[in-house]
Amino acid sequence: MPQRSEVVLRATELSRTFRVGSRFSPSKVSAVDGVSIELSAGQSLGIVGETGCGKSTLARMLVGLERPDGGTLTYRGEDVTAGRRADRRLLRQGVQMIFQDPYTSLDPRMTVLDLVAEPLAAARSMNAARRRDRVAELLDLVGLSTEMMSRYPHQFSGGQRQRIGIARALALDPQVLICDEPVSALDVSVQAQVINLLRDLQHRLGVALLFISHDLSVVRHVADRVAVMYLGRLAEVGPVALIFDEPRHPYTQALLSASPSVGSEARGRLGRRLVLTGEPPSPVNPPPGCRFHERCAMAEDRCAAEVPRLRTVDGDVVGADVSAGRLSACHFAEQVVVRS
Ligand code: SF4
Repeated sequence: MPQRSEVVLRATELSRTFRVGSRFSPSKVSAVDGVSIELSAGQSLGIVGETGCGKSTLARMLVGLERPDGGTLTYRGEDVTAGRRADRRLLRQGVQMIFQDPYTSLDPRMTVLDLVAEPLAAARSMNAARRRDRVAELLDLVGLSTEMMSRYPHQFSGGQRQRIGIARALALDPQVLICDEPVSALDVSVQAQVINLLRDLQHRLGVALLFISHDLSVVRHVADRVAVMYLGRLAEVGPVALIFDEPRHPYTQALLSASPSVGSEARGRLGRRLVLTGEPPSPVNPPPGCRFHERCAMAEDRCAAEVPRLRTVDGDVVGADVSAGRLSACHFAEQVVVRS
C-alpha cells in the first residue's frame, strides 16, 4: 500500500489523435492534446467538461485501453507509456475502471462468484477455494451479502450491479480506480449510496479515484481536486473549492454558470449568467491559439495566435507541474473577476 502522499499515476503531456474519414479524404481528430495530471494515493480527482472534450479518451489511456501517441504515463514511478506486455500487466493490476453502465459491463451468463473472481483467475494467484473467500470479502466490502454469490446479474437492481462492478474492480487490490460516469445510469435515489461507497473505499483502502462526471454537484461532493477539459486540453485545474468558488478560466465560469445543479450558486458569485455562444468547434479542425477563443467573451487578438499555457493566476508559468495549487490556461486569468 503506497503512502498517502505518493503519486501513483502521473500523465505528462499525454496526447491521442485518431484518424477519421475515408482513404481518399483522411483527417485527424485531436481527442487529447498535451494533458498533464497526477493522482496521489487516497486522493480523488474529478474531470469535467462538455461531451467530446476528451475525458473518456483520457480515462482509457490511463487504464491502458488506449495507447497514447504523445507524452508519458507512469504508474508508481514505472514508465508504462509504451504498452508493453509488462506495462499492461502492471496497469491491469494497479489501475481498474468502473464503467458507466452496470447493465452492459457484466456478462449476464456469469454468476457473481465467477464475475468477481474472473480477474483473480486470470492473474493465477489463488486456487478456487481462496478465490471464493476473496470474493466473499469483496462482496462484504461493497455492502452485498455473500449469499448472493450464486446469482446472476439480472437478479439485481442497478445499484447492486454497480456494487458488483466495484467489487470486481477491487479484486486485484488496485491503487487507482478510474470511474467513468459511474452513477449516471442509476436512479437518483441510489446515486448517493454508490458515491458514498466510493468515498468510503477511498478512505478505507487508500485507493485514488479519478472521477469523470457531467454532474458538477457529484464532482464537488466526491473530488479533492478537479480538472476542467475543453476540446482535448486542460482549461483549469486545482482544489475543488477554489475551482467551484473562484473559477478563473472563462470556460470554467460558463460551465458552472450553465449547470442545473451548481449554476445558481455560481451565477451568484459571478454576478451574472454566462452563456456559451456557438457550437463547440470540431476537434477535426480545432481553432488555433486558445481553443476556446471563438466562444470566449474576453477573447483578444492574442488569443487566436498564442496557445495559453497552464499557469498560476499570479502569472507564474509552471508548465506540467499540475500538483501546484490552482492553474489556469488563460492569458488573462488574473483579470477574471469573481466575488469573494
Ligand atoms: Fe478567453 Fe483568451 Fe483566456 Fe482563451 S486565453 S479563455 S480566449 S481570454
